[in-house]
Amino acid sequence: MPLIVQKYGGSSMGTLDRIQHVADKVISAKQQGHDVVVVVSAMYGETDRLIQLANALTPYPEPREYDVLISTGEQVSMALLSMALNMKQAPARSFTGAQIGILTDGVHTKARILDIKTDVITRELEQGRIVIIAGFQGVNAQGDITTLGRGGSDTTAVAIAAALNAHECQIYTDVAGVYTTDPHLISEARLLPQISFEEMLEMASLGAKVLQMRSVELASKHNMPIRVLSTFSEGAGTLVTFEDKIMHKRMVSGIAFSREEAIISLSGAPRQVGMEGRIISQVSRANIEIDMIAQHTTVQNTVDFTFTVQRREHAKALKIIEDLAKEMGAGAVKTNAKVAKLSLVGIGMRSHSGVASTMFTTLGDAGIPIQMITTSEIKISVIVDEAHLEKGVRAVHQAFELDKHPQTTEQTYIE
Ligand code: ASP
Ligand code: MG
Repeated sequence: MPLIVQKYGGSSMGTLDRIQHVADKVISAKQQGHDVVVVVSAMYGETDRLIQLANALTPYPEPREYDVLISTGEQVSMALLSMALNMKQAPARSFTGAQIGILTDGVHTKARILDIKTDVITRELEQGRIVIIAGFQGVNAQGDITTLGRGGSDTTAVAIAAALNAHECQIYTDVAGVYTTDPHLISEARLLPQISFEEMLEMASLGAKVLQMRSVELASKHNMPIRVLSTFSEGAGTLVTFEDKIMHKRMVSGIAFSREEAIISLSGAPRQVGMEGRIISQVSRANIEIDMIAQHTTVQNTVDFTFTVQRREHAKALKIIEDLAKEMGAGAVKTNAKVAKLSLVGIGMRSHSGVASTMFTTLGDAGIPIQMITTSEIKISVIVDEAHLEKGVRAVHQAFELDKHPQTTEQTYIE
């Protein structure tokens, strides 16, 4: 029987009614002739509640005990789902990560999976049972419980699907799939039937939070297709898969954005070899992550150096740069703590020129100044004033016809 792995997130498991609904969905997959392995998250809000309990008790919980605590949410939901299934005459059994043999390294709170034993799962499936596994957790070589980092149940599901060589890994959540952009901002956003692993990684890293990034990396490594679907509505969702399996090749797949950005610019610093390293290392020594960087030498032989950081680190980064500017005898430090990043993502950019020009012209026509640009093979990002973000996303979304059916490229490939 073809095996599918289904993962249900916290909102899908949020109440007993919802758990009953999940049980019905699992049963219908089984009735369609599948062996089913289910990975569950903790009930909505539960992991946060457990973390608050620990923090209220001590600012320095033992990492071992912290993992014992925060892994319990999944144990509750797996048992409840199993009970619901058994009540509905669908034989099921639940297992913790340790019971299955999800072996991880010893890094508590962000452990990585080393190996997954399949014998328990296989034995249960052979008995005709539905297997339910706690997401987000494993066990280290010493037998201690570990957890995989926030959102880690996605990674559990993909790792289990890969270990079992499943047909598909289905991630059930509270949205219908992956959209061309955030439908809360742009109501014309369209559900993408398919997206490549690479594009999904760019979208995820840019803040489209449907899947944990690690799970997408893992799926791509093991060639395991992921389908993102809604627990609460019908529909085929979005298939995240390899580029060559994508039927409608589009130039651009989506627009991701993040609001919490800030830009800092040091200008007129006398040119010196190694100054870029000096600037960056001062900032990273303070544990501040830098995102975009631009640098250029002026005709006066001075250097302008501009970068972006997360907005919450803006004040700290600005202080460092102002001190440095004095030391270096630089001109001015300019900054804007209310900027946003807008990124266009698409594998089609590799083979189509003109994406950047359409994007920049569109923003220009909308009267939106671009403050910074970076590009990679399948992504173009710009920094704009946060006040212009919505207008910019809407204009670019329209310019690339993302609100319409996917355009197919005219070329046919023989390779
Ligand atoms: N319950 C965990 C969390 O809230 C893991 C997950 O839901 O994926 O982060
Ligand atoms: Mg999640």
